[in-house]
Amino acid sequence: MVNMNPILYDLHIHSHFSFDCKSDPKEIIKVAKKKNLAGIAITDHNKVNFHLKEYDNKGLLVIPGIEVSTEKGHVIGLGIKELIERKMSVAETIEKILELGGQPVIPHPFDFTRRGIGKEIYKLKKIPIETQNASCPLQLFNRKAKKWAEKNKLPQTGGSDSHRIQDIGMAFTIFKEELETIDDVLEAIRKRKSSSGGTHLSIPEKIIRAFQIHF
Ligand SMILES: [Zn+2]
Ligand SMILES: [Zn+2]
Repeated sequence: MVNMNPILYDLHIHSHFSFDCKSDPKEIIKVAKKKNLAGIAITDHNKVNFHLKEYDNKGLLVIPGIEVSTEKGHVIGLGIKELIERKMSVAETIEKILELGGQPVIPHPFDFTRRGIGKEIYKLKKIPIETQNASCPLQLFNRKAKKWAEKNKLPQTGGSDSHRIQDIGMAFTIFKEELETIDDVLEAIRKRKSSSGGTHLSIPEKIIRAFQIHF
C-alpha cells in the first residue's frame, strides 16, 4: 500500500551484543517505536542476537543482522541469523550472506576512520550501499557514498550505526510503501525502492559518545 508519509527504517543499530555498546535490545525496540520507525535492523559486530524473537516487537519489524569484519572492512548482512566468519575477503563474505538468504549491504564505505571497505567498493556490482550513516564523523563520507550509488544506480540504505540508545533513528532508510515482512524489506532494497536520509553526529557529540561508551 502506498503511504503518503515516508516509512522509516533504521537499518544499522548496535546492541550490547557488540563489544563497544551497552544498549539493551528491549530498550532499542521501545525507543524505535517511540520514534515512529516502522522497522529496525540489529547489526552487531560479528555477532547475531539469537534472542530477538523473545522481545515484544509488535508494531515494529525487527530484522536480524550482523556487521562482519572482513579483511578489508565492514560488511552488513541483513536477515542473517547465523554467525559469519571474520577476516574473509569482501567477496567471500558477500557470497556467504547471499548463501544464507540474507542481503549484503556495504556500510560507511568511504569512512576510513571506521573500517569502511574503501576502494573495494569499486569492484562490487549491484550490492546496496549505506549512503547515510549517522556515526560518520564527516558528512563528506556519506556524500561520496551517495554519489557513487547514484552514478552506478545502486540500491541505497541509511542507518544510525547507533551505539547509544538516544542516537537511534538519526539516519534511516526511506520506503514509500508499507512493508510487511523481512523479505519484503530486502526485496524493496534490491529493487531500489529505498533511499536514505537523516543527519550525522557532530564531532563534539562523537567525543562525548566515546567517553560515555568506554568510561
Ligand atoms: Zn561499521
Ligand atoms: Zn556499525
